[in-house]
Amino acid sequence: MSVGHEFGFELRVCAWVEQCWRPGSDGDDVSRLVARQLGTKRRRWDTVVLEVDPAGLRQRAKFGAQRLDSDLLHVVRHAPPEWAFYRDALPHPGYPWRYVREAIHRASDRGIVETRRDGNRIELRRRWEYPADWVQRVVAIENKPDLDASAADALADQLQRDVALGLADEVWLATAADEEGGVERALLAELPVEAGILAFDSSGGNDEWTASVEWLPRTLAADATGTRITDRPSGSAFDQSAAEFEYVDADWKTEKRLEIAERAFERGWRSYVDTMRPDCRHFRLTRADHGYVPVCAAKQREQSAAECSGSCPEYEPEPPAWRQRGWPIEGGPGSAIRDVLAERRQRQRDGG
Ligand code: SF4
Repeated sequence: MSVGHEFGFELRVCAWVEQCWRPGSDGDDVSRLVARQLGTKRRRWDTVVLEVDPAGLRQRAKFGAQRLDSDLLHVVRHAPPEWAFYRDALPHPGYPWRYVREAIHRASDRGIVETRRDGNRIELRRRWEYPADWVQRVVAIENKPDLDASAADALADQLQRDVALGLADEVWLATAADEEGGVERALLAELPVEAGILAFDSSGGNDEWTASVEWLPRTLAADATGTRITDRPSGSAFDQSAAEFEYVDADWKTEKRLEIAERAFERGWRSYVDTMRPDCRHFRLTRADHGYVPVCAAKQREQSAAECSGSCPEYEPEPPAWRQRGWPIEGGPGSAIRDVLAERRQRQRDGG
């Protein structure tokens, strides 16, 4: 069965990263979490690697598998070890206190802070300290298996924006190796020197992937003010306009990185199954070199996430009998697949 689409490539990149990160580290063990399709409102990265502190990750895991949004983060990061009136304990959030009260109630409902009333006053104390630096580095990978001149051109623009903003500590391009096992130099000439290049070679078959580093990235100044390019000249002889940009302060970047990390922690890269149809009788998981990937028995190939939906013309629900037999433990194969992927996701959150 062939991959044939970016989705299959992306899953293999995620699986490889989970097992082999970091390239060029000579086997030094780097604890990491991998997720896909995350970023900001303006920019979504294909693959996100969090390099994490193992003790910090275990501490973070005490807060549960669900992500903490920015309001909840404000509460848990500042919740005091001893009972205190919430307005004394938490710094002013820059928005009305009633939103903070809502967040405190949500945090209490989730069991991640304790609350009590003293007359009209809400008091809180923390259950655990939120680990300040469980995320050590954030790495963004853009996946482009079919790198031709126009794709390289478009990618150069995106990667330059990523480099200028410096929201991630590193940016990489992952692409498929050519017949010589590398990447055509002319295509790479356009890309910013700060971006790393990984070439994936599948000449041994879809299930035997190896990756080689074609170019090592430079570390970006993620803790400094960044530059957001808002407009740039087209490059044509008729466009004499100057690039337009705005500064992005370091605090905004710190907050965004943590929010991205929280979403990555919740979702992992196996959450693709949430938007696909594992309850279809043709849905299968097959073991590729570094992890499972979905396969469609009806199409006789790996399906993309977009085509594996309720509107797929070949979709057929699992026969009820599969579920009645309690296959393999409870529920049909569809729920068994979900369980397998959920269990692997949880194992990564627990530090692997
Ligand atoms: S037939 Fe369609 S819905 Fe069913 S597994 Fe294949 S792609 Fe997914």
